[in-house]
Amino acid sequence: MISLVYSPEYARHQTGHHPENQERLEVMMKYLIEQGEAEKLDIHLPVPASDEDLLRVHTKHYLNHLQKFTKSGGGYLDFDTFASPESYQIAKLAAGGAITASQLVFDQSDFAYSMARPPGHHATADSALGFCLINNLAVALEYMRKTHGLRKFVIVDFDAHYGNGTAEIFYNDPQVLYISIHQDPRTIFPGKGFIEETGSRMGEGFNLNIPLPPGSGTSDYIYILEKILEPACRKFQADFYFLDVGFDGHQDDPLSSLQLDDDFYPWITSHMQEITPKMVLILEGGYSQDAMARSNLKMIKVLKDKSTHEDQWRPSGKLVVKDETKKIFKRIQDTFSPFFTF
Ligand SMILES: [Zn+2]
Repeated sequence: MISLVYSPEYARHQTGHHPENQERLEVMMKYLIEQGEAEKLDIHLPVPASDEDLLRVHTKHYLNHLQKFTKSGGGYLDFDTFASPESYQIAKLAAGGAITASQLVFDQSDFAYSMARPPGHHATADSALGFCLINNLAVALEYMRKTHGLRKFVIVDFDAHYGNGTAEIFYNDPQVLYISIHQDPRTIFPGKGFIEETGSRMGEGFNLNIPLPPGSGTSDYIYILEKILEPACRKFQADFYFLDVGFDGHQDDPLSSLQLDDDFYPWITSHMQEITPKMVLILEGGYSQDAMARSNLKMIKVLKDKSTHEDQWRPSGKLVVKDETKKIFKRIQDTFSPFFTF
């Protein structure tokens, strides 16, 4: 069963003419309805995260600050992260959406997708960043660890930006394998996410970054992900999987310089389905509304139709892979050789 966790209430996080605005989800949802896909999904409303849920990830000081700031009218928390008067409540709902989706996968669903905003993967334990207020995925992961005693988690994040918040929260944690593929941080926000950031202390070897240069496309992504994801997941043996979904690596997206096409999204989804029969999907970025709506529909269709094979979404003929991508793979192979064999 495929569950979608969504609420029209997410529009109440009002950001005006900001790239991360309420229209993003409205356009995606409208497209799912128009294409007859929404009616085939098991749709659930999110339950807001409790203070206890948030405190497993965020500091009390930060949560108090965020709550006060929004109550007194909101505004810019930093140079590009906006919060409106209701944003704190809606951020709790978005974090709750990630929990609801995780609970659904634990109980009954094969896949559950939390289509929520504000996004979460840049938010750290003690600060908002990059359009993110609460780290939705981290809150859901800690909820599953606490409530159900699950031990080991894999997170695969393919948003165009490095999920610095998620990475930082689990940086010392050997039970969470965070794998992120993103645009080279020398050329894009948040300026972190290099290969050498491998985790620390007990967590060393469990933060795996795949930074690719501007202009990298679907062939480059498939080439490198095929070599890394399956062996890493097989060795790690997780109890639970998260796919952190960002559509901002699309060639039409205004916020990155990557060149992914619509078919990358069903490809990565079906590739993950070859690795695990159950997973939670959590929405992060994506700022070309049309590209997002199309790619999102393709991704959901693949989740529903188990008979599709990843090869169906590969570019026809041979992959056209840049030399730079091959070099980056070699560097990852060397850096991670104490931990994984690729
Ligand atoms: Zn992003």
